[in-house]
Amino acid sequence: MRTKFDVKTEAIFRAVYSALERGMAVIGPTQVAEELGISKSTAYKMLNELSEAGYGVYVPKKGLLINEKGEMKAKEAIRMHRLIECLLAELGVEDFCREAEKIGMVAGSSFVEALEARYGDRKVCPCGKKIPEV
Ligand SMILES: [Zn+2]
Repeated sequence: MRTKFDVKTEAIFRAVYSALERGMAVIGPTQVAEELGISKSTAYKMLNELSEAGYGVYVPKKGLLINEKGEMKAKEAIRMHRLIECLLAELGVEDFCREAEKIGMVAGSSFVEALEARYGDRKVCPCGKKIPEV
């Protein structure tokens, strides 16, 4: 059963996942700041919070070295995002990626379960990216 992320956490895990997709296991504050449009000091704080929560180890001057638990959470976050995109694309929503981002921040578990039931067997999202298995 997935847990509901808070707004910031959901977004940061998607940033973590995009780093993993590019083959990076360490994600730094500069990258997070750029991807989420936040300040570097906020990004630094968020990464340290993830480290404290057990999602990785913060390596000074480098960034968060993501562990298995962190990778799992990141996959869950991106999977939800891409399943929401499937729904929105089917509804004919044009900027489904941006809309999915907003919806993902407030999605509850029964919504996610319904998405899984309907789109859970999809391999790629409407923009052609792989939907990770969790
Ligand atoms: Zn997509």
